Amino acid sequence: MGNFSLGRKSLAELDGVHADLVAVVKRAIALTVQDFAVHDGIRTVEEQKRLVAAGASRTLDSRHITGHAVDLVPYVNGKLRWEWEPIYRIADAVRIAARELGISLRWGGAWDIDFTASQDSPEDIVADYGARRRAEGKKAFLDGPHYELSKAKYP
Ligand SMILES: [Zn+2]
Repeated sequence: MGNFSLGRKSLAELDGVHADLVAVVKRAIALTVQDFAVHDGIRTVEEQKRLVAAGASRTLDSRHITGHAVDLVPYVNGKLRWEWEPIYRIADAVRIAARELGISLRWGGAWDIDFTASQDSPEDIVADYGARRRAEGKKAFLDGPHYELSKAKYP
């Protein structure tokens, strides 16, 4: 356990996010061995349009707009870092938290599976997703910091 806690900015980002997802994030920060910051909770349609134009997101139908998604970015030596090794450790903590709370999540490391239910390591999940996409002749759009409530259970 890392004894991390959410900072003021992270807590502000959780404003307006669905209570079940907030509960997962708050439990995850208590469990994680890798510190993280909440980078994006709620987004406006305008913010989302800018991200899509910049290639940082692929959809205008983002779960961020409705408060069903958060981005948890590794915080390393005082900086936000988009790196897979710490992203995987955060994913471990988020999944344990989601299981404890019984909340079904989709992760940006593999968009086509129930992350909470998966028994595979985050590393394997991403590798398998990449292989599935390649087999379909498609690119894998990976967004390791992104977690969202399952659309089936939280429409
Ligand atoms: Zn996101």
